Amino acid sequence: MTPTKIWLSSPHMGGNEQQYVKEAFETNWVAPLGPNVNGFEKDLELFLDDNVQVAALSSGTAAIHLGLILLGVGQGDEVICQSFTFSASANPICYLGATPVFVDSEPDTWNICPIALEEAIQDRMAKGKKPKAIIGVHLYGMPFKVDEIKAVADRYQIPLLEDSAEALGSHYKGKKCGTFGVLSVLSFNGNKIITTSGGGALVSHSSAMKDKAVFLSTQARDNAPHYQHSEIGYNYRMSNICAGIGRGQMEVLEAHVNLRRAMHDFYTRYFADKKGVTLFKEPNADFFSNHWLTSIIIDPTIVGKTREELRLFLEQHNIETRPLWKPMHLQPIFAKFPYYGGNVAESLFEKGLCLPSGSNLTAIERERLAIAMDEFFL
Ligand SMILES: *Cc1c(COP(=O)(O)O)cnc(C)c1O
Repeated sequence: MTPTKIWLSSPHMGGNEQQYVKEAFETNWVAPLGPNVNGFEKDLELFLDDNVQVAALSSGTAAIHLGLILLGVGQGDEVICQSFTFSASANPICYLGATPVFVDSEPDTWNICPIALEEAIQDRMAKGKKPKAIIGVHLYGMPFKVDEIKAVADRYQIPLLEDSAEALGSHYKGKKCGTFGVLSVLSFNGNKIITTSGGGALVSHSSAMKDKAVFLSTQARDNAPHYQHSEIGYNYRMSNICAGIGRGQMEVLEAHVNLRRAMHDFYTRYFADKKGVTLFKEPNADFFSNHWLTSIIIDPTIVGKTREELRLFLEQHNIETRPLWKPMHLQPIFAKFPYYGGNVAESLFEKGLCLPSGSNLTAIERERLAIAMDEFFL
């Protein structure tokens, strides 16, 4: 008999989600508005603190799209984007007819490199165009070098769009990820730290920004009895059913972050004596990662095997792992766009693997993981 599958990161319900969904049915708020949408936004605002304003949307991708629109990005503009990320960080740049300019990572946080970022800005300006926005990503829950990146953004007066899709519950110098950008993005997709089955949010620092995001996400309807439009609108608002799931998930967010971090501790102990395997961890005490996905780098010259061999080996044991993100500048669809930096992201992609990290993994599943990996690293 094949054992049940161990997933990389699967939805983990807290228990009260169905209660909120049931209430939505009982009161007939089965629509992209209602008490759960407002309640979920309040929950997120309280959690993030820092007086933020949250607009709940249909996805993180929608939040990035609206975020770029609010920052004034349009046809022919250039937007700087961390190359080492999921394609959803970059796709909305292209929705708007703008050009992505990709920037390499630095080795401490695996996120956007402040030096390569500045080089990119200077070169784009020398070529005649000042970038309209900078998209930095807290990959796998690890905060990027916030102070350094913000310093560069401020020096050139370019707004920072913070892609915090993977980093709800992470913080930097005690301040929550999702509050650092002029605008910030959260995701509640099925595999994220909490889920609404599918959803996202745009975080801002003024009610005017939030109102504008809500306005655009509900088809940009002017204030009139008939349907009147002076702007192009989108159907990007979160449904009250999804928001009900989100409210239940917010009750267990902190607990789930602790469980993800406990998975990271398990791997830290496991790999402590494995030569040639480096576990991705916080560079110093300023950084606190939710450890959404625990990742390792395998040096094949020491281990004698590659990360791909480990991935295939674990697959045979019905254990799901995944190579680190393939950098955007190496993706066929994005290869034609400018790129600044070296081969940090590329080398992470070649040697790195994400390991099962869900908050719902059991002691028995950890045991299975350890036994399978023992066999591989023998
Ligand atoms: C998941 C994710 C997104 C997109 O969020 P969706 O809710 O899936 O649209 C954007 N950026 C990063 C880094 C992500 O991991």
